[in-house]
Amino acid sequence: MDARLAAIRDTVLARNPGEGEFHQAITEVFESLGPVHDRHPEFLHGAVLERLCEPERQIIFRVPWTDDQGQVQINRGFRVEFNSALGPYKGGLRFHPSVNLGIVKFLGYEQIFKNALTGMPIGGGKGGSDFDPRGRSDGEVMRFCQSFMTELYRHIGEYTDVPAGDIGVGGREIGYLFGQYKRITNRYESGVLTGKGISWGGSLVRPEATGFGTVIFTNEMLKTRGLSFDGQRVVVSGSGNVAINAIAKAQTFGATVVACSDSSGYIVDEAGIDVPLLKEIKEVERARLKEYSVRRPGARYVEGGSVWDAGATVALPCATQNELDGGAAAALVRGGVLAVGEGANMPCMPDAVAAFQADGVLFGPGKAANAGGVATSALEMQQNASRDSWSFEHTENRLTDIMVGIHDACAATAEEYGSPGDYVLGANIAGFVKVADAMLAQGLI
Ligand code: GLU
Repeated sequence: MDARLAAIRDTVLARNPGEGEFHQAITEVFESLGPVHDRHPEFLHGAVLERLCEPERQIIFRVPWTDDQGQVQINRGFRVEFNSALGPYKGGLRFHPSVNLGIVKFLGYEQIFKNALTGMPIGGGKGGSDFDPRGRSDGEVMRFCQSFMTELYRHIGEYTDVPAGDIGVGGREIGYLFGQYKRITNRYESGVLTGKGISWGGSLVRPEATGFGTVIFTNEMLKTRGLSFDGQRVVVSGSGNVAINAIAKAQTFGATVVACSDSSGYIVDEAGIDVPLLKEIKEVERARLKEYSVRRPGARYVEGGSVWDAGATVALPCATQNELDGGAAAALVRGGVLAVGEGANMPCMPDAVAAFQADGVLFGPGKAANAGGVATSALEMQQNASRDSWSFEHTENRLTDIMVGIHDACAATAEEYGSPGDYVLGANIAGFVKVADAMLAQGLI
Protein backbone atom coordinates (compact mmCIF):
# COMPACT_ATOMS: atom_id res chain seq x y z
CA MET A 1 0.00 0.00 0.00
CA ASP A 2 1.13 3.55 -0.82
CA ALA A 3 2.93 4.99 2.27
CA ARG A 4 0.77 8.16 2.40
CA LEU A 5 -2.38 6.08 2.35
CA ALA A 6 -1.01 3.55 4.86
CA ALA A 7 -0.53 6.38 7.37
CA ILE A 8 -4.13 7.52 6.91
CA ARG A 9 -5.34 3.93 7.13
CA ASP A 10 -3.49 3.36 10.41
CA THR A 11 -5.13 6.43 11.95
CA VAL A 12 -8.58 5.29 10.82
CA LEU A 13 -8.04 1.77 12.19
CA ALA A 14 -6.81 3.10 15.56
CA ARG A 15 -9.84 5.36 15.79
CA ASN A 16 -12.26 2.46 15.16
CA PRO A 17 -10.92 -0.34 17.37
CA GLY A 18 -12.38 -3.83 17.20
CA GLU A 19 -14.26 -3.29 13.96
CA GLY A 20 -12.56 -6.02 11.93
CA GLU A 21 -14.87 -6.04 8.90
CA PHE A 22 -14.69 -2.24 8.63
CA HIS A 23 -10.88 -2.42 8.75
CA GLN A 24 -10.91 -5.10 6.06
CA ALA A 25 -13.15 -3.04 3.75
CA ILE A 26 -11.01 0.08 4.24
CA THR A 27 -7.74 -1.78 3.64
CA GLU A 28 -9.03 -3.28 0.40
CA VAL A 29 -10.09 0.11 -0.96
CA PHE A 30 -6.88 1.86 0.13
CA GLU A 31 -4.76 -0.82 -1.57
CA SER A 32 -6.28 0.27 -4.89
CA LEU A 33 -6.00 4.01 -4.51
CA GLY A 34 -2.25 4.77 -4.64
CA PRO A 35 -2.18 5.57 -8.37
CA VAL A 36 -5.23 7.84 -8.04
CA HIS A 37 -3.47 10.01 -5.49
CA ASP A 38 -0.40 10.31 -7.74
CA ARG A 39 -2.64 11.78 -10.42
CA HIS A 40 -4.91 13.76 -8.11
CA PRO A 41 -2.93 15.39 -5.30
CA GLU A 42 -5.99 17.59 -4.64
CA PHE A 43 -7.70 14.58 -3.07
CA LEU A 44 -4.94 14.40 -0.45
CA HIS A 45 -4.98 18.15 0.15
CA GLY A 46 -8.73 18.06 0.60
CA ALA A 47 -8.44 15.20 3.12
CA VAL A 48 -10.99 13.31 1.04
CA LEU A 49 -9.93 9.89 2.32
CA GLU A 50 -9.99 10.90 5.98
CA ARG A 51 -13.45 12.40 5.52
CA LEU A 52 -14.72 9.40 3.56
CA CYS A 53 -13.78 7.05 6.39
CA GLU A 54 -15.68 9.06 9.00
CA PRO A 55 -19.45 8.61 8.68
CA GLU A 56 -21.40 11.84 8.47
CA ARG A 57 -23.72 10.57 11.19
CA GLN A 58 -24.07 7.38 13.26
CA ILE A 59 -27.30 6.58 15.04
CA ILE A 60 -27.62 3.81 17.67
CA PHE A 61 -30.87 3.25 19.48
CA ARG A 62 -32.81 0.93 21.77
CA VAL A 63 -35.55 -1.23 20.24
CA PRO A 64 -37.90 -2.62 22.90
CA TRP A 65 -40.70 -5.00 21.92
CA THR A 66 -42.84 -7.74 23.40
CA ASP A 67 -42.67 -11.36 22.22
CA ASP A 68 -45.60 -13.77 21.90
CA GLN A 69 -45.11 -14.94 25.50
CA GLY A 70 -45.49 -11.37 26.75
CA GLN A 71 -41.78 -11.12 27.57
CA VAL A 72 -40.00 -7.82 26.95
CA GLN A 73 -37.14 -8.09 24.47
CA ILE A 74 -34.49 -5.45 23.89
CA ASN A 75 -32.50 -5.14 20.67
CA ARG A 76 -30.11 -2.56 19.35
CA GLY A 77 -30.86 -0.53 16.21
CA PHE A 78 -28.31 1.15 13.94
CA ARG A 79 -28.30 3.55 11.04
CA VAL A 80 -24.96 4.80 9.75
CA GLU A 81 -25.43 7.74 7.37
CA PHE A 82 -22.05 7.47 5.75
CA ASN A 83 -21.77 9.82 2.80
CA SER A 84 -24.25 12.10 1.01
CA ALA A 85 -22.00 13.61 -1.68
CA LEU A 86 -23.99 12.05 -4.54
CA GLY A 87 -27.51 11.93 -3.09
CA PRO A 88 -29.56 10.94 -0.05
CA TYR A 89 -28.03 8.17 2.06
CA LYS A 90 -29.10 4.87 0.51
CA GLY A 91 -28.63 1.32 1.66
CA GLY A 92 -30.32 -1.61 3.28
CA LEU A 93 -31.26 -2.67 6.77
CA ARG A 94 -29.91 -5.99 8.02
CA PHE A 95 -31.66 -7.93 10.79
CA HIS A 96 -29.29 -10.64 11.99
CA PRO A 97 -27.79 -11.57 15.37
CA SER A 98 -24.29 -10.81 14.04
CA VAL A 99 -25.10 -7.12 13.41
CA ASN A 100 -22.95 -4.65 15.34
CA LEU A 101 -21.55 -1.20 14.62
CA GLY A 102 -18.46 -2.54 12.81
CA ILE A 103 -20.58 -4.65 10.46
CA VAL A 104 -22.90 -1.74 9.69
CA LYS A 105 -19.91 0.54 9.04
CA PHE A 106 -18.26 -1.92 6.67
CA LEU A 107 -21.52 -2.30 4.78
CA GLY A 108 -22.13 1.46 4.72
CA TYR A 109 -18.59 2.14 3.51
CA GLU A 110 -18.89 -0.38 0.66
CA GLN A 111 -22.28 1.10 -0.20
CA ILE A 112 -20.76 4.54 -0.92
CA PHE A 113 -18.65 3.19 -3.78
CA LYS A 114 -21.26 0.70 -4.97
CA ASN A 115 -23.88 3.39 -5.23
CA ALA A 116 -21.46 5.70 -7.04
CA LEU A 117 -20.78 2.94 -9.60
CA THR A 118 -24.48 2.64 -10.44
CA GLY A 119 -24.41 6.17 -11.87
CA MET A 120 -27.60 6.94 -9.92
CA PRO A 121 -27.91 9.96 -7.55
CA ILE A 122 -27.59 8.06 -4.26
CA GLY A 123 -25.23 8.45 -1.30
CA GLY A 124 -24.20 5.63 1.01
CA GLY A 125 -25.68 4.37 4.26
CA LYS A 126 -26.60 1.16 6.04
CA GLY A 127 -28.46 0.06 9.12
CA GLY A 128 -30.05 -2.80 10.93
CA SER A 129 -30.36 -4.60 14.20
CA ASP A 130 -29.10 -7.63 16.09
CA PHE A 131 -32.72 -8.88 16.06
CA ASP A 132 -32.94 -12.49 14.84
CA PRO A 133 -36.10 -13.00 12.76
CA ARG A 134 -35.58 -16.76 12.54
CA GLY A 135 -38.33 -18.64 14.37
CA ARG A 136 -40.25 -15.44 15.14
CA SER A 137 -43.96 -15.21 14.33
CA ASP A 138 -45.36 -12.60 11.93
CA GLY A 139 -46.76 -10.74 14.94
CA GLU A 140 -43.36 -10.60 16.62
CA VAL A 141 -41.67 -9.41 13.43
CA MET A 142 -44.35 -6.71 13.03
CA ARG A 143 -44.01 -5.45 16.60
CA PHE A 144 -40.24 -5.38 16.26
CA CYS A 145 -40.42 -3.46 12.95
CA GLN A 146 -42.90 -0.97 14.44
CA SER A 147 -40.66 -0.31 17.43
CA PHE A 148 -37.59 0.00 15.19
CA MET A 149 -39.34 2.56 12.97
CA THR A 150 -40.70 4.51 15.94
CA GLU A 151 -37.12 5.71 16.46
CA LEU A 152 -35.78 5.53 12.89
CA TYR A 153 -38.55 7.65 11.32
CA ARG A 154 -37.06 10.92 12.60
CA HIS A 155 -33.79 10.29 10.74
CA ILE A 156 -35.06 9.23 7.30
CA GLY A 157 -36.99 10.71 4.38
CA GLU A 158 -37.04 10.63 0.60
CA TYR A 159 -34.51 13.50 0.42
CA THR A 160 -32.54 12.44 3.51
CA ASP A 161 -32.01 8.73 3.89
CA VAL A 162 -33.77 5.88 2.09
CA PRO A 163 -33.42 2.42 3.68
CA ALA A 164 -34.27 -0.89 1.99
CA GLY A 165 -33.78 -4.57 2.70
CA ASP A 166 -30.71 -6.71 3.27
CA ILE A 167 -30.25 -10.03 5.11
CA GLY A 168 -33.35 -10.70 7.24
CA VAL A 169 -35.30 -7.79 5.75
CA GLY A 170 -37.55 -8.54 2.77
CA GLY A 171 -40.97 -7.50 1.52
CA ARG A 172 -42.74 -8.43 4.75
CA GLU A 173 -40.46 -6.30 6.94
CA ILE A 174 -40.45 -3.34 4.51
CA GLY A 175 -44.27 -3.47 4.64
CA TYR A 176 -44.39 -3.22 8.43
CA LEU A 177 -41.70 -0.50 8.44
CA PHE A 178 -43.51 1.54 5.76
CA GLY A 179 -46.84 1.20 7.55
CA GLN A 180 -45.41 2.53 10.80
CA TYR A 181 -43.58 5.40 9.04
CA LYS A 182 -46.81 6.42 7.32
CA ARG A 183 -48.76 6.21 10.55
CA ILE A 184 -46.30 8.33 12.56
CA THR A 185 -45.69 10.99 9.92
CA ASN A 186 -49.15 11.01 8.33
CA ARG A 187 -47.44 11.15 4.93
CA TYR A 188 -47.70 8.69 2.04
CA GLU A 189 -44.04 9.27 1.26
CA SER A 190 -43.37 6.38 -1.13
CA GLY A 191 -39.73 7.31 -1.73
CA VAL A 192 -38.70 6.89 1.92
CA LEU A 193 -38.13 3.14 1.59
CA THR A 194 -37.44 0.84 -1.33
CA GLY A 195 -38.27 -2.81 -1.82
CA LYS A 196 -41.96 -2.05 -1.32
CA GLY A 197 -44.79 -4.29 -2.55
CA ILE A 198 -45.88 -3.74 -6.11
CA SER A 199 -49.36 -2.42 -5.23
CA TRP A 200 -48.03 0.23 -2.83
CA GLY A 201 -45.15 1.92 -4.66
CA GLY A 202 -42.73 -0.92 -5.27
CA SER A 203 -40.89 -1.59 -8.51
CA LEU A 204 -41.07 -4.65 -10.69
CA VAL A 205 -37.68 -6.42 -10.87
CA ARG A 206 -36.55 -5.05 -7.47
CA PRO A 207 -36.92 -8.47 -5.77
CA GLU A 208 -34.92 -10.15 -8.53
CA ALA A 209 -32.44 -7.33 -9.13
CA THR A 210 -29.44 -8.21 -6.95
CA GLY A 211 -29.23 -11.83 -8.12
CA PHE A 212 -30.04 -10.98 -11.75
CA GLY A 213 -27.49 -8.17 -11.73
CA THR A 214 -24.76 -10.40 -10.32
CA VAL A 215 -25.27 -12.86 -13.16
CA ILE A 216 -25.41 -10.11 -15.79
CA PHE A 217 -22.15 -8.62 -14.47
CA THR A 218 -20.44 -12.02 -14.32
CA ASN A 219 -21.63 -12.80 -17.84
CA GLU A 220 -19.99 -9.56 -19.04
CA MET A 221 -16.72 -10.67 -17.43
CA LEU A 222 -17.00 -14.07 -19.16
CA LYS A 223 -17.63 -12.35 -22.50
CA THR A 224 -14.21 -10.65 -22.32
CA ARG A 225 -12.78 -14.17 -22.75
CA GLY A 226 -15.22 -15.21 -25.44
CA LEU A 227 -17.30 -17.20 -22.91
CA SER A 228 -20.77 -16.92 -21.35
CA PHE A 229 -22.92 -18.68 -18.75
CA ASP A 230 -24.10 -21.12 -21.41
CA GLY A 231 -22.95 -24.61 -20.44
CA GLN A 232 -21.24 -23.55 -17.21
CA ARG A 233 -21.43 -25.56 -14.00
CA VAL A 234 -22.43 -23.03 -11.36
CA VAL A 235 -22.36 -23.18 -7.57
CA VAL A 236 -24.13 -20.51 -5.53
CA SER A 237 -23.78 -20.07 -1.78
CA GLY A 238 -26.79 -19.02 0.25
CA SER A 239 -30.45 -19.65 -0.51
CA GLY A 240 -31.99 -16.27 0.26
CA ASN A 241 -33.28 -13.63 -2.11
CA VAL A 242 -29.94 -12.93 -3.83
CA ALA A 243 -29.02 -16.61 -4.24
CA ILE A 244 -32.43 -17.69 -5.55
CA ASN A 245 -32.52 -15.00 -8.22
CA ALA A 246 -28.90 -15.59 -9.22
CA ILE A 247 -29.74 -19.28 -9.69
CA ALA A 248 -32.80 -18.42 -11.77
CA LYS A 249 -30.92 -16.01 -14.04
CA ALA A 250 -27.88 -18.26 -14.49
CA GLN A 251 -30.20 -21.07 -15.63
CA THR A 252 -32.00 -18.71 -18.03
CA PHE A 253 -28.56 -17.97 -19.49
CA GLY A 254 -28.01 -21.70 -20.10
CA ALA A 255 -25.98 -22.70 -17.04
CA THR A 256 -26.65 -25.65 -14.75
CA VAL A 257 -26.67 -24.55 -11.11
CA VAL A 258 -25.83 -27.67 -9.15
CA ALA A 259 -25.58 -26.49 -5.53
CA CYS A 260 -26.61 -23.87 -2.98
CA SER A 261 -26.46 -23.63 0.80
CA ASP A 262 -27.83 -22.34 4.07
CA SER A 263 -26.07 -21.95 7.41
CA SER A 264 -26.61 -25.67 8.23
CA GLY A 265 -25.39 -27.32 5.05
CA TYR A 266 -25.80 -27.51 1.30
CA ILE A 267 -27.75 -29.33 -1.38
CA VAL A 268 -26.39 -30.83 -4.58
CA ASP A 269 -28.75 -31.35 -7.50
CA GLU A 270 -26.82 -32.40 -10.60
CA ALA A 271 -29.92 -32.00 -12.77
CA GLY A 272 -29.98 -28.27 -12.00
CA ILE A 273 -31.80 -26.64 -9.10
CA ASP A 274 -35.59 -26.52 -9.40
CA VAL A 275 -36.18 -22.80 -8.72
CA PRO A 276 -39.96 -22.95 -8.12
CA LEU A 277 -39.44 -25.70 -5.51
CA LEU A 278 -36.61 -23.76 -3.87
CA LYS A 279 -38.79 -20.62 -3.73
CA GLU A 280 -41.70 -22.55 -2.23
CA ILE A 281 -39.49 -23.96 0.53
CA LYS A 282 -37.50 -20.83 1.34
CA GLU A 283 -39.87 -17.96 0.60
CA VAL A 284 -43.36 -19.36 1.20
CA GLU A 285 -42.73 -21.93 3.93
CA ARG A 286 -39.62 -20.18 5.35
CA ALA A 287 -38.25 -23.70 5.94
CA ARG A 288 -34.66 -24.99 5.98
CA LEU A 289 -32.89 -25.88 2.75
CA LYS A 290 -32.57 -29.54 3.78
CA GLU A 291 -36.27 -29.87 2.90
CA TYR A 292 -35.33 -29.48 -0.79
CA SER A 293 -33.46 -32.81 -0.80
CA VAL A 294 -36.45 -34.54 0.80
CA ARG A 295 -38.81 -33.43 -1.96
CA ARG A 296 -36.57 -33.46 -5.02
CA PRO A 297 -35.63 -36.88 -6.47
CA GLY A 298 -31.91 -37.17 -7.12
CA ALA A 299 -30.89 -34.27 -4.89
CA ARG A 300 -28.73 -34.81 -1.83
CA TYR A 301 -28.11 -32.79 1.30
CA VAL A 302 -24.72 -32.41 2.93
CA GLU A 303 -24.82 -31.40 6.59
CA GLY A 304 -22.15 -28.80 7.39
CA GLY A 305 -19.20 -28.74 4.99
CA SER A 306 -18.45 -26.27 2.23
CA VAL A 307 -20.72 -25.79 -0.77
CA TRP A 308 -17.62 -24.99 -2.85
CA ASP A 309 -16.64 -28.67 -2.61
CA ALA A 310 -19.38 -29.32 -5.20
CA GLY A 311 -16.97 -27.93 -7.82
CA ALA A 312 -17.82 -25.19 -10.31
CA THR A 313 -16.66 -23.37 -13.40
CA VAL A 314 -18.51 -20.28 -12.14
CA ALA A 315 -18.89 -19.54 -8.41
CA LEU A 316 -21.37 -17.00 -7.06
CA PRO A 317 -21.00 -16.37 -3.31
CA CYS A 318 -24.39 -14.93 -2.32
CA ALA A 319 -24.60 -15.62 1.43
CA THR A 320 -22.65 -13.21 3.67
CA GLN A 321 -19.31 -11.58 4.43
CA ASN A 322 -16.13 -13.66 4.76
CA GLU A 323 -17.86 -16.92 3.84
CA LEU A 324 -15.25 -18.03 1.27
CA ASP A 325 -11.71 -18.44 2.62
CA GLY A 326 -8.33 -19.09 1.00
CA GLY A 327 -8.74 -22.86 1.30
CA ALA A 328 -12.07 -22.83 -0.52
CA ALA A 329 -10.60 -20.52 -3.18
CA ALA A 330 -7.66 -22.88 -3.69
CA ALA A 331 -10.07 -25.81 -4.11
CA LEU A 332 -12.13 -23.86 -6.65
CA VAL A 333 -8.98 -22.92 -8.57
CA ARG A 334 -7.82 -26.55 -8.61
CA GLY A 335 -11.24 -27.51 -9.95
CA GLY A 336 -10.88 -25.09 -12.86
CA VAL A 337 -13.10 -22.19 -11.81
CA LEU A 338 -13.20 -19.50 -14.52
CA ALA A 339 -15.15 -16.71 -12.85
CA VAL A 340 -16.34 -15.60 -9.42
CA GLY A 341 -19.04 -12.95 -8.98
CA GLU A 342 -19.82 -11.69 -5.48
CA GLY A 343 -23.59 -11.48 -4.96
CA ALA A 344 -23.09 -10.86 -1.23
CA ASN A 345 -21.11 -8.01 0.31
CA MET A 346 -17.43 -8.96 0.83
CA PRO A 347 -18.04 -12.74 0.86
CA CYS A 348 -14.48 -13.56 -0.26
CA MET A 349 -11.73 -13.16 2.30
CA PRO A 350 -8.62 -11.23 1.20
CA ASP A 351 -6.54 -14.40 0.72
CA ALA A 352 -9.32 -15.88 -1.43
CA VAL A 353 -9.39 -12.78 -3.66
CA ALA A 354 -5.60 -12.97 -3.94
CA ALA A 355 -5.78 -16.66 -4.91
CA PHE A 356 -8.34 -15.99 -7.63
CA GLN A 357 -6.45 -13.05 -9.06
CA ALA A 358 -3.08 -14.87 -8.95
CA ASP A 359 -4.62 -17.64 -11.03
CA GLY A 360 -6.21 -15.31 -13.58
CA VAL A 361 -9.77 -16.14 -12.48
CA LEU A 362 -12.24 -13.40 -13.45
CA PHE A 363 -13.21 -11.84 -10.12
CA GLY A 364 -16.12 -9.41 -9.76
CA PRO A 365 -16.13 -7.68 -6.34
CA GLY A 366 -19.49 -7.19 -4.60
CA LYS A 367 -19.51 -3.43 -4.83
CA ALA A 368 -19.69 -3.82 -8.60
CA ALA A 369 -21.24 -7.26 -9.13
CA ASN A 370 -24.11 -6.92 -6.65
CA ALA A 371 -24.95 -3.26 -7.36
CA GLY A 372 -28.07 -4.26 -9.31
CA GLY A 373 -30.19 -4.32 -6.16
CA VAL A 374 -29.50 -0.81 -5.06
CA ALA A 375 -29.55 0.42 -8.68
CA THR A 376 -33.09 -0.91 -9.02
CA SER A 377 -33.94 0.72 -5.69
CA ALA A 378 -32.90 3.99 -7.32
CA LEU A 379 -35.22 3.13 -10.23
CA GLU A 380 -37.98 2.55 -7.66
CA MET A 381 -37.26 6.04 -6.24
CA GLN A 382 -37.48 7.45 -9.76
CA GLN A 383 -40.88 5.82 -10.31
CA ASN A 384 -42.10 7.09 -6.92
CA ALA A 385 -40.94 10.65 -7.69
CA SER A 386 -42.83 10.66 -10.99
CA ARG A 387 -45.82 8.71 -9.60
CA ASP A 388 -45.30 6.19 -12.34
CA SER A 389 -44.72 2.45 -12.59
CA TRP A 390 -42.78 0.78 -15.33
CA SER A 391 -43.16 -2.60 -17.02
CA PHE A 392 -40.99 -5.57 -16.08
CA GLU A 393 -39.29 -5.47 -19.46
CA HIS A 394 -38.46 -1.77 -19.34
CA THR A 395 -37.13 -2.03 -15.78
CA GLU A 396 -35.07 -5.12 -16.54
CA ASN A 397 -33.59 -3.41 -19.59
CA ARG A 398 -32.57 -0.48 -17.40
CA LEU A 399 -30.98 -2.90 -14.91
CA THR A 400 -29.09 -4.67 -17.70
CA ASP A 401 -27.80 -1.36 -19.09
CA ILE A 402 -26.64 -0.31 -15.63
CA MET A 403 -24.82 -3.61 -14.96
CA VAL A 404 -23.13 -3.58 -18.38
CA GLY A 405 -22.18 0.06 -17.72
CA ILE A 406 -20.65 -0.82 -14.34
CA HIS A 407 -18.72 -3.68 -15.89
CA ASP A 408 -17.39 -1.49 -18.67
CA ALA A 409 -16.48 1.35 -16.28
CA CYS A 410 -14.55 -1.03 -14.00
CA ALA A 411 -12.77 -2.65 -16.95
CA ALA A 412 -11.89 0.71 -18.54
CA THR A 413 -10.64 2.15 -15.23
CA ALA A 414 -8.47 -0.91 -14.54
CA GLU A 415 -7.02 -0.56 -18.02
CA GLU A 416 -6.44 3.19 -17.62
CA TYR A 417 -4.56 2.62 -14.35
CA GLY A 418 -2.37 -0.12 -15.81
CA SER A 419 -4.04 -3.23 -14.32
CA PRO A 420 -6.23 -4.64 -17.10
CA GLY A 421 -8.72 -7.25 -15.89
CA ASP A 422 -8.44 -6.18 -12.22
CA TYR A 423 -12.09 -5.47 -11.39
CA VAL A 424 -11.28 -4.82 -7.71
CA LEU A 425 -8.97 -1.96 -8.62
CA GLY A 426 -11.32 -0.74 -11.35
CA ALA A 427 -14.38 -0.69 -9.05
CA ASN A 428 -12.56 0.99 -6.18
CA ILE A 429 -11.02 3.71 -8.34
CA ALA A 430 -14.08 4.41 -10.49
CA GLY A 431 -16.35 4.64 -7.42
CA PHE A 432 -13.90 6.66 -5.38
CA VAL A 433 -13.10 9.27 -8.05
CA LYS A 434 -16.77 10.05 -8.55
CA VAL A 435 -17.41 10.58 -4.85
CA ALA A 436 -14.12 12.43 -4.29
CA ASP A 437 -14.85 14.92 -7.08
CA ALA A 438 -18.28 15.66 -5.61
CA MET A 439 -16.89 16.04 -2.11
CA LEU A 440 -14.24 18.53 -3.23
CA ALA A 441 -16.83 20.54 -5.16
CA GLN A 442 -19.08 20.74 -2.09
CA GLY A 443 -16.39 22.18 0.19
CA LEU A 444 -15.16 21.14 3.60
CA ILE A 445 -18.21 19.52 5.17
N1 GLU B 1 -28.88 -4.25 0.73
C1 GLU B 1 -28.65 -4.10 -0.66
C2 GLU B 1 -27.19 -3.83 -0.92
O1 GLU B 1 -26.35 -4.37 -0.22
C3 GLU B 1 -29.62 -3.13 -1.33
C4 GLU B 1 -29.68 -1.77 -0.73
C5 GLU B 1 -30.78 -0.86 -1.31
O2 GLU B 1 -31.52 -1.29 -2.17
O3 GLU B 1 -30.84 0.27 -0.85
O4 GLU B 1 -26.80 -3.13 -1.80
